[in-house]
Amino acid sequence: MKNSHTINQNESKFLAQIALLKQQVEELKIENSDLEMTLLTIIEHGDAMEAQLEEANKQLHAEINEKKIAEAKLKTMIEAVYQQKEDLEIIIETLTEHGDIIDTQLLEELNEVNNLATIDHLTGLANRRHFDQSLTDEWRRCLRENQPLSLIMTDVDFFKLYNDHYGHQMGDGCLTQVAQAIDHSIRRPADMAARYGGEEFAVILPNTNTEGAFNVAVKIQDTVARLKILHADSKVSEYITLSLGIGTLIPSSDNSPIQLICEADRLLYIAKQKGRNQIIY
Ligand code: GH3
Ligand code: MG
Ligand code: MG
Repeated sequence: MKNSHTINQNESKFLAQIALLKQQVEELKIENSDLEMTLLTIIEHGDAMEAQLEEANKQLHAEINEKKIAEAKLKTMIEAVYQQKEDLEIIIETLTEHGDIIDTQLLEELNEVNNLATIDHLTGLANRRHFDQSLTDEWRRCLRENQPLSLIMTDVDFFKLYNDHYGHQMGDGCLTQVAQAIDHSIRRPADMAARYGGEEFAVILPNTNTEGAFNVAVKIQDTVARLKILHADSKVSEYITLSLGIGTLIPSSDNSPIQLICEADRLLYIAKQKGRNQIIY
C-alpha cells in the first residue's frame, strides 16, 4: 500500500515536472519566435543601414572628387594671376623707365589732333569750329564781367575776279597773306582771328567797345593795304582790299553770340553795298 502510494506520488511529481517542462518548452518557443522576429528586424534594418552607408560613401567620394577638381582649377588660376602679375611688373618697369618719352609722344600726338580739329589748314588761323566755341566762351565771360564784346566780320573784295584772273593757287596764297595780316593786327591775348569760311574772316575782341574795334579794323585794313597784293580786276583799287562790318554788344539775357554775328554780318553787307573797301559799324 505504501509502495503504491509512493508510486502515485512519484508519478504525479513526474507529471508535474513534465507539465512544467512543457510550459518551459512553450515559453522557450515563444522566446525563440521573439528572437527570430528580432533577428529578422535586425537583418532588415541592417540592410537599410548598409544601403545608407553605401550612399554616404558614394557622396563622400563625389565630394572628394569635386574638391580635387576645384583644387586643380584654383591652382591654374593662381598660376595665371602670378603670370599676369609678372607681366604687369614688366609693363610698369618699362613705363617707369620710358615714362618721359611716352608722355612727350602722347602730348605731341594729342596736340596734333587738337590742332587738326581747331586750325584752318590753309591759313593757319582758328577754324570755324574753334571760332564758334571761342565766341560762346567770350560771350559768357563778358556777360559775367559786364563788359562789351565786339566782332569784326571781314571779306575780301572781288575775290572771285581775283581767282579768275590769277588762278586758284594764287588765290590760296592771297588768302594766306590776308589771314596773316589780320592775325598780326590783333594784340591782346584774348583777341582771336578765325577763318569764318571761304574768303571771309572773323575777329573776336573781348572787353572791347565799338571804338576799340574800329581801331583794330583800321589796322587790319592798313596792314592788308601795305601788302600791296595786285588785283588787276578789282573795281575799287589796284590792290586787294577788304570790306569790314563791326558788331558790338554787352552780353545779357536779351542777346546771344548769334545776334552778334548777324549784326556784324549785316554791317559787312552794308559795307559791300556802299562800294566795298570800307569799315561800317
Ligand atoms: P565780294 O566783293 O562781293 O565779296 O565779291 P567776291 O567775288 O569776293 O565774292 P564771291 O562770294 O562772289 O566769291 C568769293 C570767291 O572766293 C569764290 C570762291 O571760289 C573764292 N574762294 C573761297 N574760298 C577759297 C579758297 O580757299 N581759295 C581760293 N583760291 N578761293 C576761294
Ligand atoms: Mg568777297
Ligand atoms: Mg564772301
